[in-house]
Amino acid sequence: MHRRTRRPRPPHGATVRARERVVDWRPTGDDGVRVETDHRAYEADELVVTAGAWAAEFIDELDGLAVPERQVLAWLQPEEPAAFDPEAFPVWNLQVPEGRFYGFPIHGVPGFKFGRYNHREETVDPDAFEREPTQADERLLREFAEQYFPDGAGPTMRLETCLFTNTPDDHFVIDTLPAHPQVSVAAGFSGHGFKFASVVGEIMADLALEGETDHGIGMFGLDRF
Ligand SMILES: Cc1cc2nc3c(=O)[nH]c(=O)nc-3n(C[C@H](O)[C@H](O)[C@H](O)COP(=O)(O)OP(=O)(O)OC[C@H]3O[C@@H](n4cnc5c(N)ncnc54)[C@H](O)[C@@H]3O)c2cc1C
Repeated sequence: MHRRTRRPRPPHGATVRARERVVDWRPTGDDGVRVETDHRAYEADELVVTAGAWAAEFIDELDGLAVPERQVLAWLQPEEPAAFDPEAFPVWNLQVPEGRFYGFPIHGVPGFKFGRYNHREETVDPDAFEREPTQADERLLREFAEQYFPDGAGPTMRLETCLFTNTPDDHFVIDTLPAHPQVSVAAGFSGHGFKFASVVGEIMADLALEGETDHGIGMFGLDRF
């Protein structure tokens, strides 16, 4: 007897479609949306946009309010790595005349990891920015380490670039669109969104399913700008 193989059902009915690029979206009538990807088109009642550094490409209201900025992180090998172990060395945040820096003990990969908030203050196009760290990037970070953490300023093990998406007041944007309440957006996390990912997910589910949330998101509204 021939049995059809059933695909496993995803928990809670979600279907993940990764590696599928959203090209555009538009409202349909008063209360729906159509999303086009590089594979196909979808029609839905609600749309949640969480496109990180690309958010303003999809949400006109975010133009100039969710601005991508290039960041660079360094991992330097300390002279005495044991002094930079988590038992001996804290997660830190340091305001000095050269700017605000942050860093971590050695964890998982070799090297003492740190960076400067807003690095070299480079606003960028997320599709066309210098992903390779440069000598100028390394110089800025090494000069800081040599002055403030001289025991940590050994050979450069690794440099990495990534993106912040900054708002004018460094607070998030979490809202529905005034003209299209069936579309909600979470963006502009200004370098401190990761630790809030789970609650932001909960809020976005509330906005999509209920049109409101019990979480206090007033300070994240689009209308504050
Ligand atoms: C160096 C560095 C250090 C940081 N440190 C901290 C920290 O210590 N604590 C903290 O809380 N936060 C930190 N952050 C910030 C945190 O990582 C961000 O705030 C958070 O990841 C933003 O989440 P997001 O979902 O908005 O964007 P992202 O995580 O960037 O997700 C956006 C997603 O949208 C996808 N996407 C974009 N366009 C399309 C498209 N057209 N079609 C399909 N998919 C698309 C992208 O591929 C991506 O997967 C740091 C960030 C950086 C760069």
